[in-house]
This record gives sequence, structure tokens and C-alpha cells, in this order.
Amino acid sequence: MTSDSPKLIDGMGRTIVNLRVSVTDRCNFRCTYCMPADNVEFMDRSNLLTFEEIHRVVTVASSLGINRIRLTGGEPLMRKDLPTLIKMINEVEGINDVALTTNAFFLNDQAQSLHDAGLKRLNVSLDALDPEKFRDVNRRDCLKAVLEGLDTARKVGFKSIKINAVAVRNFSESEIMGLIEYGRSDGFEVRFIEFMPLDSDKVWERDKVLFGHEIVELIKEKYELVPVDNSLEIGPASEYTFADGKGKIGIITAVSNPFCDHCNRIRMTADGKLRTCLFSTDETNLKEMIRSGDSNQKIAETIRQAVLVKEPGHKINLDDFERPDRAMHAIGG
Ligand code: SAM
Ligand code: SF4
Repeated sequence: MTSDSPKLIDGMGRTIVNLRVSVTDRCNFRCTYCMPADNVEFMDRSNLLTFEEIHRVVTVASSLGINRIRLTGGEPLMRKDLPTLIKMINEVEGINDVALTTNAFFLNDQAQSLHDAGLKRLNVSLDALDPEKFRDVNRRDCLKAVLEGLDTARKVGFKSIKINAVAVRNFSESEIMGLIEYGRSDGFEVRFIEFMPLDSDKVWERDKVLFGHEIVELIKEKYELVPVDNSLEIGPASEYTFADGKGKIGIITAVSNPFCDHCNRIRMTADGKLRTCLFSTDETNLKEMIRSGDSNQKIAETIRQAVLVKEPGHKINLDDFERPDRAMHAIGG
């Protein structure tokens, strides 16, 4: 690839079009698969990129062919005035999709203003519909607020609302069918994500992952599933429709059958570090470049060089797997 090519293409020939931007590492939940129960050390606020700085990175990234942005965290709705950032990003030439991943606790209050700002797609994390199980996994007793948030978001009219549930063995099995019925009745696509070794508590073990194929088998006991041909739309989920025509589900086999060969995304942490893989052990400090006055051209070249050596894939299934220093909430899932 020449350096004047407008596209971001990595050393494996993968074209990168998707940037996940974390806006904070703070969160009001303490999900067991993500954060510790207490004593969390958060980034100093002065290290968080400002909206103007995020806007600048997005503008540079869009000049390189990035056209999809997902805002995440930590809990992105804890960042003040998020709709302002959404509006700013929506106005960047070349960006045609802005989405958000949230735990939905603040969604009841914010759904309308997020929608008004131009947000079209939402992913909401919800692992359990049983209030006690919800409290066990999220370490917060607030299922009701999350369901109210989802209900409000549905009424506000987002183009797409997906529910993400982390699949943990000996926890998720009893929740799967309830989540599916809920998704079918309220029009949400429910997606199950295999538990990955990104938990702060470092308790992840392979035995604790409920695998995608097991989830599909469980659902098939009640419903006939039809695989969706996703060949035109590259995403991490294998999708299935229900043969009765009512709804869709997704399975993200991040551990048992990773989609690294088709990965089209990079990430930026809330403190402005570019990560070319969820499991990167190296980062590129864009914040330092911005704050030391580097030009857009230099930032673009730095992003291009980082992408060139994007990891071929994660190594969860290999002996030399190394956990990244950051847990999920500090990366931006
Ligand atoms: N706080 C927001 C939320 O929970 O939706 C956004 C950030 S959260 C880190 C983004 C996504 O990562 C959520 O869907 C969450 O379930 C998922 N996640 C967190 N830790 C995970 C892990 N160890 N394995 C798989 N998914 C994980
Ligand atoms: Fe917070 Fe999301 Fe991590 Fe749960 S998964 S602790 S809601 S950042």
C-alpha cells in the first residue's frame, strides 16, 4: 500500500473501516466479567480526550476511510453531554454510522436526546432477566432501570437496538431462553458473546466460557433457527433468524471461533491510545501527538503505520497468549 492510498489496509490485507471510541473508563456497574468489585483506579480526568480532541481523531480517521464509529467505555452515558459529541461526529464528512454501547442505566433519561443528536443504533448489555442473577453478575441491583431504559429507547424509535449478553458457563444457561423471548416480543436482536479473558479480577478460564455452539443447541431445543448469510456485511456475529419469522439472534464466538481474519476495526481508549486489537499489548499514543501540536497529516501517517502491523489475530487459544494490561472497561469493548 502506498502512503497516499486513502484506505487503511493492514499487513494481512484487511481494510479497516470501523473505529471504537471509548469516552470514559468510569462505570456505575461492576460486572464480574469486566471490573473489580471495588478499589478501581480510574484515569485522571485531565487524561481523557476532550470532545474536540476526539472529533479531531475521527476527522483524521475518516480521511483514511473510517466510516463507522461506535462510542463505548466504561459507561459512555456517564460522560457529560454525550449528545454534543454525537452531533459533532455525525457532522464529520465520511462518517455514515454512529452507534453506542451502553449498560442502559441512564437510558431512560437520555434516549431522546441521543436520538435527537443523530444516534441511530444502540447495543445494550443485559445478561440476566432474573433480578438476583442480574445483581450477581452486574453487582448492582437495578434491572428495573435497565428495562425502563430499553423500553424508552424502543419508543423513541432507534433504527436498531441489540442486546448483548456475555455467555458465562454455569451462569447464562438459565437466562438464555428468557432473553430470547424478551427480544422476540420487543423487537431486539439478542446476541451472546463468549466470555473473554479481559476481566479485571483475572478469573477467566476456558472452562468458564459458555460456547456459542452450546447456546445454539440450547435454543434449537425450542426453536428452529435459520443461519443468515452475512457475506455482504462483515461483523463479529453469526446471525440466525427464527424459522417462524419472528426475530433474529447473534452469536459472537470470540473464543471458540474468532473472526480475526475478517476484523475491520481499531479502537481508541478514553486517554487517546490507539489499539489495533482488543488484545493488543502495544498502544500508539495519539493524545500525546495532539497535545504536542502534531499535524493531522502526521497523525494520519501514525495511524496508518500502526494499522500496517495490526495483530493477525488474538492468541487466546495459543500457549503464548498474553493478557493485555488493561481490562475491558479501560479498553472500550
Ligand atoms: N458499559 C457499556 C456496556 O456494558 O454496554 C459499554 C462498555 S462494555 C466494556 C462493552 C461490552 O463489552 C459489553 O457488551 C460487555 O458485556 C462486554 N464485555 C465486557 N467484559 C467482557 C468480557 N470479559 N468478555 C466478553 N464481553 C465483555
Ligand atoms: Fe461497566 Fe460495561 Fe464493564 Fe459492566 S461491562 S462493568 S457496564 S463497562
